[in-house]
This record gives sequence, C-alpha cells and structure tokens, in this order.
Amino acid sequence: MSELFINGGWEGATGGAVREINCPADETLVGTVAEADPADALRAIHAARAAFDGGWWKTTSVIERGQILERTAALMQDRLEEFARAESLDTGKRLVEARYDIADSIRCVRYFAQLGPTFSGRRVDTGDPKIESRVQYEPVGVAVLITPWNYPLLQATWKVAPAIAAGCTFVLKPSELTPSTSIMFMQALTDAGLPAGVGNLILGAGSAIGDTLTASPKVDMVSFTGGLETGKRVMISAAATIKKVALELGGKNPNVVFADANFDAALDNALTAIFLHSGQVCSAGSRLIIEESIHDSFVEQLVERAKQIRLGGPFDDNAETGALISAQHRDKVHAFVTAGIAEGATLLCGGQPIDGPGYFYPPTILGNCTTTMRCVQDESFGPVLTIETFTTEEQAVALGNDTYYGLAGAVWTQDAGKAQRVANALRHGTVWINDFHPYVPQAEWGGFKQSGIGRELGPNGLLEYLEAKHVYQNTDPEPSGWFSLAT
Ligand code: NAD
Repeated sequence: MSELFINGGWEGATGGAVREINCPADETLVGTVAEADPADALRAIHAARAAFDGGWWKTTSVIERGQILERTAALMQDRLEEFARAESLDTGKRLVEARYDIADSIRCVRYFAQLGPTFSGRRVDTGDPKIESRVQYEPVGVAVLITPWNYPLLQATWKVAPAIAAGCTFVLKPSELTPSTSIMFMQALTDAGLPAGVGNLILGAGSAIGDTLTASPKVDMVSFTGGLETGKRVMISAAATIKKVALELGGKNPNVVFADANFDAALDNALTAIFLHSGQVCSAGSRLIIEESIHDSFVEQLVERAKQIRLGGPFDDNAETGALISAQHRDKVHAFVTAGIAEGATLLCGGQPIDGPGYFYPPTILGNCTTTMRCVQDESFGPVLTIETFTTEEQAVALGNDTYYGLAGAVWTQDAGKAQRVANALRHGTVWINDFHPYVPQAEWGGFKQSGIGRELGPNGLLEYLEAKHVYQNTDPEPSGWFSLAT
C-alpha cells in the first residue's frame, strides 16, 4: 500500500500497517490504504519544513501558484465522475450529492487560484517624507490541515487551495474513514506541477498521529475541521508552541420560522435543512424554532413528509438520502434520541435504527423541546430535528442565540425589516434569510462562539495562511538624541 505522499513520493507506512475502508451503505470493502504512525507524520512534517525553508517555493510568484491550482482544477474536472464515485463509496452519500460536492470543490480551487494575485500589501502614510512604511503579507509557513469525513474533498480544498495560494507548505490529514478523494486530489496537485515537499499526505487515525502533527515545533499553523471535543484537544496541543490555530467545529443551528413565512418554501427547506446527508452537515438546521400560531399545521406536514423520505445507497436512484458514516456513529445518534425522549421530548417520527447491512437511521423529529434539554443544546450530527416554539420576535432571537455554538442559522419571514433585524441579531457565522444551506466560495464561512476560530473561504480564508509584516524604512537616518552623549 503506498498512499502516503511524502516529499514528492508515494510510500507505505513505516510500520506496514493498513486500514480497510468500507462503504457505510452496505459495509462492503472499498479498498485498503496505508495507516501512518507518528514516525511517518514526522517525516511528512520534515518534508514540508524543508520545502518551506528551502526558500524557492515561498518566492514563487503568486501567479505560478495560481496556475498550479488552475491546472489542478482542470484535472479534477476531467475526472469529476471518478472523484464523485470514490466520495460516494467512502461516505455512503448519494452519487448525485457527491457530484455537487466535487463541483463545489473545483469551484473552491479556482476561486483561490484567482484570489491570490488580487491580494497585496499596502503602503502606510506616516506623514514623514523620509519614512517608507509598508505592510506586506507572507506565508505563515508549514500548515497541518486536518479534515473530517462528511465532505472529505470539499473540506480538503477549503484548506489546501488557500495554503498553496498563500505560499505555505502543508501536511494534509483527512479523516481515516474517507481518504480516497484526498489521495486523488494529491495526485492531481502533483500532476499539475506542485513541487516535491510542498504538499504531503498522511493517512491514519487522529488518536494515533494527531498529537504528533499538532504539537510539532516545526509546524507553524494547524487548520482543523471536526468535532468540538477534538478541536479543544488540538488547541491545547498546539498551545505549547503558540501555533496559529484555525478551527471549524460543530453547530446546533437554529431554523427560525415566522407565521408570515412562505409556508410551503419554509416547510420544504426545513426538511432539507436537517435531513440532507442524513444530518451529517455541520450547518444542519437541527433546531426548528417555530411561531406558535403555525406550529400544529407546520409540524403535522413536516412529520408526514419526513416519514416518506427514502433511504438508500449511493447508486440507488430511488434514494433521497444515505447512510450514517459508521455503526458507532449510528449508535451515538440513537443514544442521543433515547436521551432526548428521557428528558421529556416527544418522539414524532423515526427514533429506531434500521437493520443492516449499512448504517441507516431514519429521519427523526422530537417535539415539545426546550433549550435546557441536552438534545437541543448538543450536536447529534445525525438526522434528528428538535422543535421549540415562540410568540414574539425577541423570543425567537433569544432562542436562536441560546446555544454555545454559533455556526449558522436561518430566518423565514416575508417581512423584509423583520428578516434583517433577526439576521443581524443572530450570533452565528452564516445567516440565511428565506433559504438554508447555500454557500459560495467568495463569502467567509466559520463560527461564532464554540463553533470555531477564524474563517475559511472568502478573502479571510486566504488571510488565515498569511502573516502581516510591517517594514519600516528610514531613508535618511540620524542619531535619535534620546540619550545624552557620554562626555
Ligand atoms: P472528529 O473531530 O472526530 O475528526 C476530525 C478529524 O480530526 C479527523 O481527521 C480525525 O482523524 C482527526 N483527529 C481525531 N483526533 C485527533 C487529535 N487528537 N488530534 C488531531 N486530529 C485528530 O470529527 P468528525 O467526526 O470527522 O467530523 C464531524 C464533526 O466535524 C462534526 O462535529 C461537524 O460539525 C464538524 N464539521 C464542521 C465543519 C465546519 O465547517 N464548521 C465542517 C464539517 C464538519
């Protein structure tokens, strides 16, 4: 097995360990990949460090780095179907969904290819004609990029593309459950001319190699996307060397529906908000917060529609959504639902795991919820929707903000003023008005509160990989005269 990519070459794990990758939809073997140990992780870090310190990569022009990204995007476009099938097999998501993901990934690579050259420093006017002062941007250095399993390629491109545009070198560590498209992405980058050592790929469990990657003094930055508890651990590990840390963590995202919303659109999108990819979306609309006067009719129809959602494998044309990533995750989701019922929620549909093969869990709706319940506060990362009600705009905002997360939320109303007031008042990194889920690479993505630190995408997504340096030059130096001359 030679799927680790270190210093420009494909190789196996030093210890010879391998991991089987199974399709979550039917538990069949997708493939076997190398499983790195800490020694492999250290070799990848050394390669990235040497490529950065060697100097010539960070002095390549931003145009050249953009061209590598453009060529990579073209290669990915040529192989879109192959990427999509690999993504579907690893994640169990429908092929049609995976195709969207790959197309989005390509758009992201192209965005950063084009954004890089538009970015420049600035001259500072100090008011003193003999002073030349400027702020310039330089690459942060060696970046460790750790990604989750729900959108494997997309999350990798959100990090790798700006890192390359900025002139960083990197070690990418995808989720151990879904490595296939990261392997293909690394091959495309190499085919597009990424020099040896600039991009390195390490596969394996975060529990075994994560600390090696995040604690190393040779690493300047860690960009991590994953769960809250792992994020805390990454931050602690990186703290010893005061690394720059960017975190994209979970969310418990409110979907606020007012009585004056377009009922049919709000209803349909409330389903997509939570049940797309079976709820395994960081921005899933997992909290429906609905105005009391329409609660009964809205929820009645929502439950009816949720019961009809068809589950199935990636290549099942009849399926509308897919499996959960693993048996362990399905059990966690079920325990979450059981605990919610125990604390007083009413089970309106779903709530029982579906027999295998495959790790399926039905769309599940919990009524009569309040913000003090754990099922309302914590992320299930599965197809589980909780329902709360409100009667005033202030209450709706207070409920929407009553969460320790702050990733995304939505407001549904046909009153433009109310829509703006609520959107401004919600403390979440993305707020949709009369929509749910869309994002564009030009706009920043990230979380308030415990949903993370920093931003991906947009100009700030590139800035994460840059250091600002102030260069101040006195063109006519004289003694300062601050201290008296010795007599
Ligand atoms: P996870 O935290 O279990 O794993 C994420 C990555 O971290 C994996 O590559 C894993 O191997 C690695 N890891 C595990 N332990 C580590 C350690 N000690 N040190 C370093 N790395 C380690 O998360 P997951 O289950 O793969 O993904 C689901 C979570 O990701 C959810 O909470 C979801 O909300 C979040 N997520 C957030 C965003 C966002 O943009 N905010 C996007 C996607 C997913």
